[in-house]
Amino acid sequence: MAIQHSSATSGATRPEIRRRILTGDRPTGRLHIGHYVGSLKNRVRLQNDYDCFFLVADYHMLTTRLDRLSEVEQNIRDMVLDYLSVGIEPERSTIYLQSLAPEVAELHLLFSMLVTANRLERMPTLKDMVRDLNVEVTYGLLGYPVLQAADILMVRAHLVPVGKDQESHLELTRQIAGRFNELFGEVFPLPDTLIGDVPTLVGTDGKAKMSKSLGNTIYLSDDAETVTQKVMRMYTDPTRLRATDPGHVEGNPVFSYLDAFDPDVTVVSELKERYRAGRVGDVEVKKRLAGSLNTFLEPFRERRAGFAARTGLVEEILREGSQRAREEARKTLAAAREAMRLNYFRG
Ligand code: ATP
Ligand code: MG
Repeated sequence: MAIQHSSATSGATRPEIRRRILTGDRPTGRLHIGHYVGSLKNRVRLQNDYDCFFLVADYHMLTTRLDRLSEVEQNIRDMVLDYLSVGIEPERSTIYLQSLAPEVAELHLLFSMLVTANRLERMPTLKDMVRDLNVEVTYGLLGYPVLQAADILMVRAHLVPVGKDQESHLELTRQIAGRFNELFGEVFPLPDTLIGDVPTLVGTDGKAKMSKSLGNTIYLSDDAETVTQKVMRMYTDPTRLRATDPGHVEGNPVFSYLDAFDPDVTVVSELKERYRAGRVGDVEVKKRLAGSLNTFLEPFRERRAGFAARTGLVEEILREGSQRAREEARKTLAAAREAMRLNYFRG
């Protein structure tokens, strides 16, 4: 795992302030094991060293999900419980709801003047969304990465732990911050990207990315039986018809998951060898994987159940977190307006 340093250092950093993290997720469903290896694991690990902001991005959800708004409230609850279950601690980190700190919309508007429509039309993530979700490119969807830049720069974050698919958005964020600083003076740091151990976890169907919207997920909150069923139905090596045929390990999602979630490297490499030689069937490998995943997920399930039983907990966390984020938002917006000389008639 390596931090990708931006070429310029962050001019707005003051040494007495703890360095900041911002990252988040859209409330389009529960979180899955891809989120864990791509981003959540880094968030939990860095909680002590950074001042962390974790965002539930409900405005971003609007860009592709206008037809499913009735599910959002439940998704928000689930997502916060997922955060808590993996070990994000609201006493140390700020968990907030994007629409409860709506200043971000004004920053988004200011930033939208600093990027061309052509640049946004060329974002690789836009093509992926149109292909996978079969959605039309609204003005809002085109601006998705600009809104993300506003989230990140609103709290003047230095580091953003995300999956590989978000790399291009972080590049754009740095570009917008750089352009703003160049035109109006040094206000924003240029944040670094931190990609997880597994940059992109493949889906259970063998598609390039596990994604809430593609129905190829194993959720952090799935019970043991569901996990086992999903694993037993997983896509493996399509060229292999019998257990005695030599199999392919590379590009086989069952082995990608074993690499990511089974701590016993020796057993896994032995299985790989036997698979390549046609000396082990898919069923045995899948049984091993189901066991490893369930061992990995069990502590999360237990913790989740404890938090879920506490009435009003999610509301309280979001209320307090959003208040804190909002204070930062107001400060940043004031600094941005000041730099742009937009503070006339403000008393
Ligand atoms: P949606 O289908 O609604 O876009 P998603 O599953 O792609 O959902 P996001 O909320 O878009 O999830 O992503 C949240 C974070 O998790 C991002 O940092 C993203 O890069 C990371 N992430 C999502 N899926 C994966 C994956 N399969 N592997 C690694 N990281 C992932
Ligand atoms: Mg996504």
